[in-house]
Amino acid sequence: MGNRGLVSLQLILFALTIVTGWSVTTTTAYSQSYSGTVAKSARLVGDGLRTRFVVDLSRSVPFNLFTLQDPYRIVVDLPNVSFQMPPDIGNKGRGLVSAFRYGLFAKGKSRIVIDVTGPVKIDKSFVLKRGSGQPARFVLDLIPTDRTTFIQELQKQKQRQAQKSKTKLPVKLATLPPIPKPKSSPRAKRKPLVFIDPGHGGIDPGAVGSLGTREKTVVLQFSRLLKKELEKSGQLRVRMTRNTDVFVPLKSRTALARRQKADLFLSIHADSAPKGYRKARGATVYTLSEKASDLEARQLAQRENRSDIIAGVQLPTESQDIADILIDLVQRETKNYSVSFANLLVGRLKNEIVLRKDPVRFANFQVLKAPDVPSLLVELGYLSTPQEEKLIRSRDWQRKVARSVARAIETYFKRHGIRNPY
Ligand SMILES: [Zn+2]
Repeated sequence: MGNRGLVSLQLILFALTIVTGWSVTTTTAYSQSYSGTVAKSARLVGDGLRTRFVVDLSRSVPFNLFTLQDPYRIVVDLPNVSFQMPPDIGNKGRGLVSAFRYGLFAKGKSRIVIDVTGPVKIDKSFVLKRGSGQPARFVLDLIPTDRTTFIQELQKQKQRQAQKSKTKLPVKLATLPPIPKPKSSPRAKRKPLVFIDPGHGGIDPGAVGSLGTREKTVVLQFSRLLKKELEKSGQLRVRMTRNTDVFVPLKSRTALARRQKADLFLSIHADSAPKGYRKARGATVYTLSEKASDLEARQLAQRENRSDIIAGVQLPTESQDIADILIDLVQRETKNYSVSFANLLVGRLKNEIVLRKDPVRFANFQVLKAPDVPSLLVELGYLSTPQEEKLIRSRDWQRKVARSVARAIETYFKRHGIRNPY
């Protein structure tokens, strides 16, 4: 790699830190040396005046802590820890903690995100070594504080991080597929590139069905089948935003598709209806719009957009106004293609599976915001309805729907060709 190559790699790495807010703490050697560590259990003790959070570990590991506001959260970053705890262990809160979740955040990096009931102060945090019949333990003590103090602490923490990132390069590129080499092939010969985006992943499980099905798992299974189906003809190139159970921030998903010049972006999800609507059935296809088609679509987009909050990603604070105006102009054309694809897809799916009434809807989904890539989000159905959950889990159903989606994509490209002629 020449000098120019190095410079551009550094730029990409820099851009990635901005886009994802990944903190700069781990190195590959650091994560490798702790692989095989198991977190077996976690518990909360205490009350609203002092709450202790404890995780049992098979050995001591280093950790990194930071806080986030709106909503208030504590984030614990660990090396590659394998969580072997009961799946619903974090659903019940106690004292100052309302819930917590855990999972793989990026390759070699695990994360616990603790939702707290209000502004808190980290009074103590340490790891106890294994010994005298006890496992190693990560311990965190929280006490209440006020919003002003919480935010002051957060500012200090940001300054410390900024200092650190001046001296180190981020290493998290490993979670993303390799950057493709520019090809010298003439533009006319380029095969269309389809990006499949299995929703959620890692620390963010997405919706959880009444039989325990996790959205992140079924959408990944489905996406793999769809990829295979699309590759059969040899006429399309297919990539995925994730191909393992790993968390990928929303903005990185679109950034990845744009950087690789995707011609179509398809985000795959499976919904859970709010209580009181537990008989909801059917698939829906969504395109991007600032204004939602209906209240349900708006609430769904809000739920889906929470992925980064769930995973404790630090969102950039700088104003995006100017970028938004430019994006709006480019998006109009893209939007027409997205809607065209949505109608094609629904035309195919209606012969195969149950669809919602008005199956093409729109809302403000973060993951559909690539200004120059026609993008669509598909909700396969409702995991909250047991009958439908069983279908979505079944390989036969997944295969049938994947075939149908693949045929719609093929028709789309026959009709519209590639969108990015470079
Ligand atoms: Zn989802």
